[in-house]
Amino acid sequence: MNAAPFKPLVYIISAPSGSGKSTLVNELLKLVANLEFSISYTTRALRGSEQNGKQYYFVSRDGFENMIEADEFLEHAQFDGNYYGTSRRFLQEAQQKGNDLLLDIDVQGAAQITQKLPDAVTIFILPPDRRTLEWRLSNRGEDPPEVIHRRLDRARREIEQYDKYNYILINDKLEESVESLQAIVLSERWRRSGRKLSEEETRVARLADDCRLSNIRDRVQPILASFSPTAISGSR
Ligand code: ADP
Ligand code: 5GP
Repeated sequence: MNAAPFKPLVYIISAPSGSGKSTLVNELLKLVANLEFSISYTTRALRGSEQNGKQYYFVSRDGFENMIEADEFLEHAQFDGNYYGTSRRFLQEAQQKGNDLLLDIDVQGAAQITQKLPDAVTIFILPPDRRTLEWRLSNRGEDPPEVIHRRLDRARREIEQYDKYNYILINDKLEESVESLQAIVLSERWRRSGRKLSEEETRVARLADDCRLSNIRDRVQPILASFSPTAISGSR
């Protein structure tokens, strides 16, 4: 009898721009084997030190629309006036290579994927508060002030979607966040393998459990409050 074909685990990471998602994903990919990053297609311009084919495939609007026509996307969405999309090809290639797949997509894309792939593991990254997010966006030095302003405004709306995700990671201290993200990815693999965990693995799985939506709601409330219009006008 043939073995069942390998079914990749799909991890979806969303976060308001500037929360530290790319930083965390880069660190995670160095630490976890057999995990590949789905490189999205976008019509936005290259930023800072980005390279075509590394962070994104940068394409024209016409090129993107042709790909939509050809049904090449698993999902796609518009964000800040630009198209972003996940190619179906990455999921097929991950499956062939026996790798799990990591998607860095916005809340609209995450909703589309979880409809198609209900087993996907969803992770939402939050900044410690609005002020820190603003500081990280400005300090990154890659976006002009009006883009930062739009991204902060959008962050408030995106953050309200946090409870649609399985795990919430508050990216305060970078090292701790990397450890928690790695714990989430590994513990989901172990859980699906159904095998008994060692003592060390149990410790790691507890770290992941601390980030489960049901265990973290109380810590999220003050972060949401820092994005409310009254808190913002009060802080000026
Ligand atoms: P995103 O991919 O979510 O837009 P980045 O990964 O580009 O965000 O991070 C935004 C900025 O914040 C970068 O300058 C990055 O170095 C910094 N940063 C990320 N995580 C942390 C952290 N835990 N503490 C302090 N700075 C951070
Ligand atoms: P940025 O321009 O900061 O790189 O990304 C803007 C937003 O687009 C982020 O929230 C990022 O997660 C999201 N994004 C990146 N790739 C995709 C994609 O393929 N599909 C969707 N729906 N969103 C994406």
